[in-house]
Amino acid sequence: MSLLKSYFGRINEVAKSIIVGLGITWRYMVRPDEIVTIQYGSKKNSPVERYIPDRHRGIHYLETEKCIMCGMCAKACPVDCIHMEGTRDGEVEFGWQADKVVLTRFVLDLNKCIFCNLCTEPCPKECIHMGLEFDLAAYTRANGVKNLLTDQPWDTTVDAENEAASRVTIDELAAAKKKKKAEERAAKKAAKEAAEAAKAKDKPDNDDEPTDG
Ligand code: SF4
Ligand code: SF4
Repeated sequence: MSLLKSYFGRINEVAKSIIVGLGITWRYMVRPDEIVTIQYGSKKNSPVERYIPDRHRGIHYLETEKCIMCGMCAKACPVDCIHMEGTRDGEVEFGWQADKVVLTRFVLDLNKCIFCNLCTEPCPKECIHMGLEFDLAAYTRANGVKNLLTDQPWDTTVDAENEAASRVTIDELAAAKKKKKAEERAAKKAAKEAAEAAKAKDKPDNDDEPTDG
């Protein structure tokens, strides 16, 4: 008798657990907002924003239009994984900023980053942030480097080409700036010499003055 009781008791438990399981499935089917499992790779309807706290130290992002290329973030980084290049000489074709400061390279090597947050603290413009994104998977180490100017992994062809072109433009700008300064110096010197010559000409010649007696 007790054997029969235990047999039917187990059937009862299994039936109950199936009903409970199906109940949960049914609930998530009709109320998908409650799903807490994040499907890997899914960006659509991802509940990441809802479940990851604001202060999470995820993959960085940069507000490029605010950055003044001061390098404070790179200096603060204990593992030296931030690198930037650019110019303060004006607009270049491949720049990412419209004002005088133009960034042409701003990369962060996530292979080395320890997510310590030290880079965001000293930023005078508060423009480098640690985001909510946490997926660091990449096929190569090169893909583990993030281009903060495009907000994408570093592209060894497109980004490298853009950067090389920017570098040429920056070199041209630097040469033009140097030339302009040299011309300005020469013009200033010539003006000074002309002024001195005019002054000397206007000055009465002491030797021609009549002498007494
Ligand atoms: S989080 Fe830390 S290790 Fe990563 S880039 Fe910023 S300062 Fe460097
Ligand atoms: S500290 Fe801020 S403003 Fe300076 S280079 Fe870094 S991100 Fe740009």
